[in-house]
Amino acid sequence: MNYRVLLYYLYTPIADPEQFAKEHLAFCRELDLKGRILVAEEGINGTLSGTNEATDRYMKYMHQDERFKDTFFKIDESEDHAFKKMFVRPRKELVSLNLEDDIDPKEVTGNYLEPKEFKEALLDENTVVIDARNDYEYDLGHFRGAVRPDIRAFRELPEWIRANKEKFMDKKVVTYCTGGIRCEKFSGWMLREGFDDVAQLHGGIANYGKDPATKGELWDGKMYIFDERIAVEINQVDKQVVGKEWFDGTPCERYINCSNPECNRQILVSEENEARYLGACSYECAAHEHNRYAEAHDISEAEKEDRLAQIAYR
Ligand SMILES: [Zn+2]
Repeated sequence: MNYRVLLYYLYTPIADPEQFAKEHLAFCRELDLKGRILVAEEGINGTLSGTNEATDRYMKYMHQDERFKDTFFKIDESEDHAFKKMFVRPRKELVSLNLEDDIDPKEVTGNYLEPKEFKEALLDENTVVIDARNDYEYDLGHFRGAVRPDIRAFRELPEWIRANKEKFMDKKVVTYCTGGIRCEKFSGWMLREGFDDVAQLHGGIANYGKDPATKGELWDGKMYIFDERIAVEINQVDKQVVGKEWFDGTPCERYINCSNPECNRQILVSEENEARYLGACSYECAAHEHNRYAEAHDISEAEKEDRLAQIAYR
């Protein structure tokens, strides 16, 4: 394993995100790093792959900068790059809850729970554990007993919480997400919303899976991740598969994007059903004139018609 994947964020003031992004991109290219970094006036959020040497140099460079000296890097060993290109993009916000008056986690955020404390919270019946990620992330894997908000994007979370408030109001609330960045804002928002006992998993699921005290225990399935790996293992103790195949409901951890370029829905699908449904989530998507699966697999119009007819009969 000569490569690493880094995942990190830090809420810290960055004066000129546009200019910073340009310079930072040049530096990353020099190191032959690949990945995606978002920069905003409120901070930085990145995931990168590179050789052990390059990632060492990157972390050192960041820690020498006064603004980023407190950055905590979550590190995965890897056989190769996990990304194809390198992007550094200026943004208005790192993550958005779509609020008129945004949350500054440096002013208000939930208490941090270390993995061991978080595991105790999972087992405490007076605590509600809320998954702060999207529905498709939850469906691939989540903490045992965690609440699944019915949302497709993070910005929908406040509305969902308001609509389901009575379920959580009298309990202790603990939130978690992939690396921790979403919970910094979400737990702060919960406090501002009037919930008085709100905590968050420090370092997110990624950190929980590596912690020697927890080894990912009580996590079921895999963790959805925004790079080419798509899904990674977390639980090293008592893993169970929770993902269900989109069409037949059998256990499945294989992710694809619907092959209709106008749909792109992320679904868990077996190889067999991927071929049968032309990589699509529905008959309508399979029949789409620009179905990517048909194009990528050189499937003739006649063969496409034939498979569509077979789906239609099911
Ligand atoms: Zn679709």
